[in-house]
Amino acid sequence: MTNRVWIFDTTLRDGEQSPGCSMTVAEKLKLAHKLVELGVDTLEAGFPIASEGDFAAVDAVSREFPWVQVAALARSTTGDVERAAKSLAAAKRPRIHTFLATSDIHLKYKLKKSRQQILDSAVAAVELARRYVDDVEFSAEDGARTDPNYLEEVARAVVAAGARTVNIPDTVGYSTPDEYGALIGGIVKALGDTAVVSVHCHDDLGLAVANSLAALQAGARQVECTVNGIGERAGNCSLEEIVMVMKTRHDRYPYDTGIHAEHLYAASQLLTSIITFGPQPNKAIVGRNAFAHEAGIHQDGYLKEKTTYEIIDPKSVGVPEGKLVLGKHSGRHALGQRCEELGFPLIREELDVVYTEFTARADRKKGIMDEEIVALIAEVREPRGAVAG
Ligand code: MN
Repeated sequence: MTNRVWIFDTTLRDGEQSPGCSMTVAEKLKLAHKLVELGVDTLEAGFPIASEGDFAAVDAVSREFPWVQVAALARSTTGDVERAAKSLAAAKRPRIHTFLATSDIHLKYKLKKSRQQILDSAVAAVELARRYVDDVEFSAEDGARTDPNYLEEVARAVVAAGARTVNIPDTVGYSTPDEYGALIGGIVKALGDTAVVSVHCHDDLGLAVANSLAALQAGARQVECTVNGIGERAGNCSLEEIVMVMKTRHDRYPYDTGIHAEHLYAASQLLTSIITFGPQPNKAIVGRNAFAHEAGIHQDGYLKEKTTYEIIDPKSVGVPEGKLVLGKHSGRHALGQRCEELGFPLIREELDVVYTEFTARADRKKGIMDEEIVALIAEVREPRGAVAG
């Protein structure tokens, strides 16, 4: 079995559909540029049947990045699958991602259908999707709470119908690493090399990354994740965290991805400038304090030898070097350099405007955080209200 793990980014779909995270098509495109630079394997750009904006986003991302795999989400219905196929018409590497819930609790209360009816609908949706594209992914929604025997039956059936990827989501963030690993291991064994097994974990119990890692150890080879871990409720598996576990602890998780980690911080900052909130300060990898050493004993050790308290070189994930605080006494040069380190090289005129605004704000505050600088750059480059949906 290969050790290459596919990074399926759903920041533009699962992430975008959570409170405070709506993005316009222009914003999705801007973020997609950074995600492509970051090296994600698949961009899930929207749920085309849900809105005109989602349809337009999938279409726009497909046109802008012909060499990237672009996915569109669809329920297992004819209307959804056809809408997804249409939105992907311009894509060179289209993937239709169709889903249907398989757990008894969803069958009984939400869908009011039998297991056989669900199985038939799933197979029909995959067969229909395959008439439009070669690359079809099927997700068994609430898979983690589905009877393992039935889940295996569904997985085999959708693969026989033409699915190349079978995703087993922990839709409600209920599973634990041991339980989820065992479930995934069973599906991997059942499917062998006929399909890639994928995972999609939510963070309701703070276990999305741990559950995804357990799944990789059990043979899953695609991880669905989001920048800053945004997504429904408590969010999805955090892209930066799972990638950096694989890089930092390659001895325990000997898997490789196509991610260029030095863009992680800039991707996080760009997302923050687009949506209404950033990661909490103590967020692993990309939080403001992720590499800040405060305690005296820690500072002493760190100054003698960084590795006493630092397991990741901040530069390796693109965090600007040094803890230089930018305030009202900072000059244009330092500000320009910080903007560049944050992933936004500014032309002279842009820097002039950002600098004037920056000093006005710095006068009123003790220090200006990186995310405020990024927001400022966004304002200068695109005055509010100028971006049409
Ligand atoms: Mn989800």
